[in-house]
Parts: sequence; C-alpha cells; structure tokens
Amino acid sequence: MHGDNATLDQLGAAILRYAEDRLRLHPVPLDRVATPEELEAAVGQTITEEGLGGLETLALFEDKLAPACLSVDHPRYLSFIPCAPTDAAAMFDLVVGASSLYAGSWLEGSGAVHAENAALRWISDLAGLPPEAGGVFTPGGTIGNLSALVAARYATRARAALDGITGVAARPWRVAATEGAHSSIKSACDVMDAELVGVHVDERLRLTGDNLRKALEENGPETFFAVVATCGTTNFGIIDDLQSVAEVCEEYGIWFHVDGAYGGAGLAAPSVRERYAGVERADSFMVDPHKWLFAPFDCCALIYRDPEQGRAAHTQHASYLDVLTEAPDFNPSDYSVGLTRRARGLPFWFSLAANGTRAYAAAIERTLEVTRFAAEEIARRPELEVVREPDLSVIVFRRLGWAAADYQAWSDRMLADEFAFIVPTSHAGETLARFAIVNPQTSEEDIVAILDTMR
Ligand SMILES: *Cc1c(COP(=O)(O)O)cnc(C)c1O
Repeated sequence: MHGDNATLDQLGAAILRYAEDRLRLHPVPLDRVATPEELEAAVGQTITEEGLGGLETLALFEDKLAPACLSVDHPRYLSFIPCAPTDAAAMFDLVVGASSLYAGSWLEGSGAVHAENAALRWISDLAGLPPEAGGVFTPGGTIGNLSALVAARYATRARAALDGITGVAARPWRVAATEGAHSSIKSACDVMDAELVGVHVDERLRLTGDNLRKALEENGPETFFAVVATCGTTNFGIIDDLQSVAEVCEEYGIWFHVDGAYGGAGLAAPSVRERYAGVERADSFMVDPHKWLFAPFDCCALIYRDPEQGRAAHTQHASYLDVLTEAPDFNPSDYSVGLTRRARGLPFWFSLAANGTRAYAAAIERTLEVTRFAAEEIARRPELEVVREPDLSVIVFRRLGWAAADYQAWSDRMLADEFAFIVPTSHAGETLARFAIVNPQTSEEDIVAILDTMR
C-alpha cells in the first residue's frame, strides 16, 4: 500500500493540486446538503476488495462528495461559529498529515510539542496569565471544558482531603454557570455526574459577581468545585463580568474557569481587549483557534494557571507508560482527557509564526469592523431591529413581522440558492436571525446583500 515512486509522484501532484486549487478559490462555492440516497447513487460502492486507485478515489471526492459539504469558510456562511483557516494553516495541515507526528509525549514529539507550546504561550500572554501557565491543544472546546472541569474537581477534592474534610465524595459537587454558557458545560457535568446550577444573568445578559454570590449562598458554597464564565457566549457573543466573578471565586476559593472558545480570540484585538478584564485571574482558560483564530478543525487551546493541577488530574498510569510518566518531561497528554494525540496545534502555530501576530490582530479587527457595520445597517432598516448591541462579532436581530416559519423559509431559500448559510436562532422563546462573523473575507457587501433578502 506504500506506493512506488511513480504512484507517489502522480497522486502526490494531484492531491497538492487539489489542495492548492481549493485554497485559491475566492469565493469558494457554498455547496449543498445531499441526501443519503443521492450520495449512494452518485458514488456507489467505494470500499472494494481491489481498491479504486488513488486518482479515481480523489475524483470521486472532488466531483461527488466535496460538493455535498458546505464550505465553512464561505464569506456568507454565518451560522453557528464558522471556521476560516489562513492559507498557511490549511497548507500546513497537509504537512502534519504527511509527517507521522505523535504529539502526546515529549519523548516522541519534542519538536512539535515545543512549537505548540509557543503558540499556547502567545494565548496565555494575551490573557495575562502567569509565565508558568500552560496546557494543551485538545480536539475542541467541549473536551477543553470537560478537561478543565475534571482538573477543577480533582484539585478541590485533593484540597478537601488535605484539610481533613470528610464526606467529600458524597457531596453533590456543583458547577455554577449562566444559561448563556455553552451546551458543552452541561454535557461535561453530565459526564462527571455533577450538578449544573444556573446563575441569573444581569440586564445585559452577563454573569456577575453579585448574582454568582447569591447562587453560591443559596446552594452552599462548599458544594461547588467550579464557576464557569464565558468570554463570548456562543449565541450573543456576550462577555461576562469576569472581574467581579473572579473576585467572588477568590473569596470562596472556587476554581474559576473561563470559556473563551469563540470569543477568547478577541483578546488579540485592541478595540475590545479591555472588556476581558479579569480573565488574567482564571484558574483555567480556553479558546478554540478553529473558531476565530483562523486555524483548521479541530483545535482548542486549554491553559491552566498552574499546569501541575491539570497534570495531577489527567496523567494516565500504566506499566507500559512508566517510561513517559516517570520522566520529568512535558507530556501534552497529561493535561486533558485523551492519550493519543495529533499535533493539532501545529497548523495554528505555523500560521502564527509565518504571518506574525500583528496580522492576527488586524484580521480580528476587520471582522469586528464588519460586525459594527452590520449593526448600523440593521438599525438603519425599518423592518429590522438589533436585539442586543454586539460585544464582539456575533449579532442577533429580528425581522419585524416574521414568525419562526418565515425565518426558516428565508434560511432554506438562501442555502438552496447556494447564496448564504444562516440558520435562525432563538432567545427567550423568540426565533431570531443571527450572524457570527469570524471570516475576514466577509465584507460589507455580503452583509448588505443578505439583509436585502429580508425586505
Ligand atoms: C463552540 C463552543 C464550545 C464548544 O467547542 P467545540 O470546539 O465545538 O467542542 C464551548 N464553549 C463555547 C463558548 C463555544 O462557543
């Protein structure tokens, strides 16, 4: 199965050409969703005893399968949180794939781990965390949140045991967060059999120290092992009042986790940086470079203020791993759920190193500029109304007179036309429109063209 040189030349050239052509497409086609029946009819049996051959299989992918995958980097793909990798990051993903790297341990991947750590350092410094802070790139924010919460509970239990507090294991073990927190927090609590306690938001839909204190007091502060604040909620891009939340966490000695999966990238943008005041007090912090830091899927940077707390909770022990765990080296697998790991931080590192951090700040600022334009444009149009002024690059708005079915029909039509992918969202029971703008290619003209379809 390792091809001879002629095969490698031919297939290698075809694959590189495909990748290069795809990166050159501007704009990329939005493409479409196919049904299982359509795809079955289009590609037939692909897994065969004889094999189809590389070129044939590549052609199948290019002609039949790729057009049935939405381009998340399309400038009018504004649903969920899109992903718009830099050319450098996307290309370097090819290198990572071709290089048989293992980045779980220092022993096996020291060069890759060193580079990943440099990229983590940049994020950690942006957040103002101490120089000893560090962590690991995980497959996404869901695993990042889970890993942070597992470390938080481990540390809390260890401390309780040291303090001689008994009955520790029998406690309810709670996490406090608002309903604006990402669904993965609830899912992490379910996995951990922990209870998620909802904290009321203030009039700007933020988590604040005052409301947090009330929730802690009502439930017994000693039953909590973590508080989760969000800097950039997924639905609205809201930054919680990190400073007052940090104060309350310090007062009660509760682990302060900041989920910046989407919004953490804004730390690099001078125009919004001050909104994150307090993030430097986090015990753990994470950001998904595959969201607003222009890295390909899948990539979450998880950082602990004191990495030792991550290591204590996550190191796997087995006789066949002793050679790794007994060495003093930095092993990324020790800092999150999971053992085997791809060097998923490398495409991000490569692009950051190649383009420089100033280009990142400029690209993030550009998306903020387009979001501000969108807010003004929405406010200007009599049939539209902004629901909440954006903190970052997500904007939620209503089309006056539309019911849920109207939003859905509008969304379906734009996708069927391969014009835009913008699914409705909801808030307080009301269906609404929402743009998430993380692609620097999204322009004012795109916004106007989309809003014109809502007349
Ligand atoms: C997207 C998101 C997550 C989950 O990240 P995945 O990479 O999708 O697992 C967690 N928190 C917030 C705030 C998010 O926006």
